[in-house]
Amino acid sequence: MKVLVLNSGSSSIKYQLFRSDDWVAIAYGLVARIGEAEGELKLNWLDGAHNHQSRQETLPIPTHQEGIDHIVAALRASGALADVSELTAIGHRVVHGGPHFKHPVIVDDCVQAEIQSVVPLAPLHNPGHLAGIEVARRLFPSVPSVVVFDTAFHQTMPPAAYRYAIPEFLYTEHRIRRYGFHGTSHGYVASRAARVLGKPLEQCNLITLHLGNGASAAAIRGGQCIDTSMGLTPLEGLVMGTRCGDIDPAVLIYLGKNLGLDAEAQDQLLNRQSGLLGICGVNDMREIEQLAVEGNARAELAIGITAHRLKKYIGAYYAELGRVDAIIFTGGIGENSVGIRRRACAGLERLGIVLDEEANASRESRGERCISVADGEVRVLVIPTNEELEIARQALAAVGG
Ligand code: AMP
Repeated sequence: MKVLVLNSGSSSIKYQLFRSDDWVAIAYGLVARIGEAEGELKLNWLDGAHNHQSRQETLPIPTHQEGIDHIVAALRASGALADVSELTAIGHRVVHGGPHFKHPVIVDDCVQAEIQSVVPLAPLHNPGHLAGIEVARRLFPSVPSVVVFDTAFHQTMPPAAYRYAIPEFLYTEHRIRRYGFHGTSHGYVASRAARVLGKPLEQCNLITLHLGNGASAAAIRGGQCIDTSMGLTPLEGLVMGTRCGDIDPAVLIYLGKNLGLDAEAQDQLLNRQSGLLGICGVNDMREIEQLAVEGNARAELAIGITAHRLKKYIGAYYAELGRVDAIIFTGGIGENSVGIRRRACAGLERLGIVLDEEANASRESRGERCISVADGEVRVLVIPTNEELEIARQALAAVGG
């Protein structure tokens, strides 16, 4: 049997098809530029002889319905999916689940309405997810659609971590609290780390650092999240590609009063023009590291602020957890940037965090690996994330597979 994972955005749908007996990804790809004059369909798949094949097409994709139709037709034509009846479940990534969803759920009308009700909290993400969910349910009524929320893993946070120090009615009437995101990734690397440590997850205290274009940290006690760096939206916390992360909220008041920026302009500024891009004009960490090597002071500052903020979170979460078994780096930057890992951990030897410089710099392994010294009190691990696989597994578990 097979599980299809859909990550449906406002104008694109990423997909991955897994064989559920061995969790091999037998096909993946995307449809992009939905609604534009020319859309794009990409498919990569493993053929019968286990060779990688790929195909790319430019064609109009007016709506999400056509997008999903094209995906299924392409999967069928490639032989990756003989028939929709092979699907045990369709797993949908949903960024914001609001305060109620603690686990993946099979979608029904109530679930869909609840996701709709938190659109104001995730206006960039949830409408696109809903479009994909609605079409999948309509086209494939016999295949259960399961939603897996980025927020769910963080639902174990205590009120002291998830409440803001603002008037009570904003929480009770407007649901303004900290939710946290990237939960599927934090949960996945935490469970992989437990395997590497050779301990049940329930006995592991971990600090997980998901460092990609979006970035967040989580403090995990006994396998459960007790704090995370993102808040009401994915803007709070670490420095990101184009997002500012933590900032004095008075900056917004200042921008409104003195620069006349309205809410829309403030949103653009802090979500799309800040972070690495705002500091040095580039949001790709590979390029920034190269520029820094060439002596570009703004690129060096962008790296400096990123590492400084990361170290602050490691220290804060260490204090919250009391004892830490491992720190886990994941995401494009966490998995690949030797320099960011080195700078985030530098000077933390008194906390038992000591990198093995050679292991950290080694390019030999791209897989799960330990980069701390053998006798280090805290293991430092690099664990490639795999959110799609985790969504597929959770979707199958939700339908009782
Ligand atoms: P993600 O959102 O997880 O795909 O991560 C994207 C980020 O990872 C971008 O800032 C990339 O520049 C960064 N990245 C990917 N590969 C490397 C690398 N080899 N060294 C440094 N940063 C990298």
